[in-house]
Amino acid sequence: MSLLVVGSVAFDTVKTADGSAEEVLGGSATYAAYAASFFTPTRIVSPVGEDMPEAYLEELHEHNIDVTGIRVVPGGKTLRWTGRYSDSFLDRTTEDIQLNVFADYDTTLPEEYLDSDYVFLANGAPPAQKAVLDQLPDRKAALLDTMNHWIEGDRDGVIEVLDRVKAVVVNDEEARLLTGEVNLLTAARLLAEMGPDIVVIKKGEHGAILFAEGRPRALHAWMTEDVNDPTGAGDCFGGALMGYIAGRGDWSLPTIKTGLLYGTVMASFCIEEFSIDGLRRVTMDDIEQRREELLGMIGWHE
Ligand code: AMP
Repeated sequence: MSLLVVGSVAFDTVKTADGSAEEVLGGSATYAAYAASFFTPTRIVSPVGEDMPEAYLEELHEHNIDVTGIRVVPGGKTLRWTGRYSDSFLDRTTEDIQLNVFADYDTTLPEEYLDSDYVFLANGAPPAQKAVLDQLPDRKAALLDTMNHWIEGDRDGVIEVLDRVKAVVVNDEEARLLTGEVNLLTAARLLAEMGPDIVVIKKGEHGAILFAEGRPRALHAWMTEDVNDPTGAGDCFGGALMGYIAGRGDWSLPTIKTGLLYGTVMASFCIEEFSIDGLRRVTMDDIEQRREELLGMIGWHE
């Protein structure tokens, strides 16, 4: 079944201790849709400016992504984000963000998107996320991702969207910011009380907590020494999770748990290179092989 991804398509400038990338293709929807499209036909909704090269949209299209919902705003400029990572990659500072066309955009869905069954609300403005949900009353499930920028700027808006989705993925810092709780299990419980059945709290290299049916489960991350740019890892994680679920057409806990494994795998490819380069060279065989290896890393009984 089809997946609709709403979020940003952007130009990123990323600085790390060992290197940097300037004005490369990024954005929450770009990463999420690219990761999802390995598992299911994916549709994307985002505004871009006239500065977005046609070749990038063509590349997404060739990767099983319907780009009808990417609207070029006449005279507009694409979102630009600049981030710097600490030497350990544990901290990230946004040095600059220019929302440009992303500040306020037309969220009217193309006619052919109105039958979308699954929705991934990638990091973006709560009003746009709400507007998309309004247009898809018959959806099977929606997953929300967000970011400190929106929690600090429009907390009520984020909480309103939370109440309307079946699942949420946030990182540990965002979970604490949203709930005011330091303990992550308490934060997960509080997030579940705000609406979603499924709460996933990402903890970077330490994996993720799945909170469902009133209890937590731990998921380990892929252990790697090959980290070059963590940007977009969370988007790939959520995108692959929803892509897998949409591909199966099944919203059950076993499917969600398998989807989380694929999310972990796609995030691990993402962080190996700048921009979406880590995803560009991946095949379905690579994905399956790494999933097996991840199971081997996690397995404790054999
Ligand atoms: P992540 O590393 O998963 O947090 O995602 C980073 C991506 O989000 C980058 O590619 C940015 O272009 C994009 N981004 C940064 N700030 C925002 C924002 N306020 N709204 C939407 N997307 C953003």
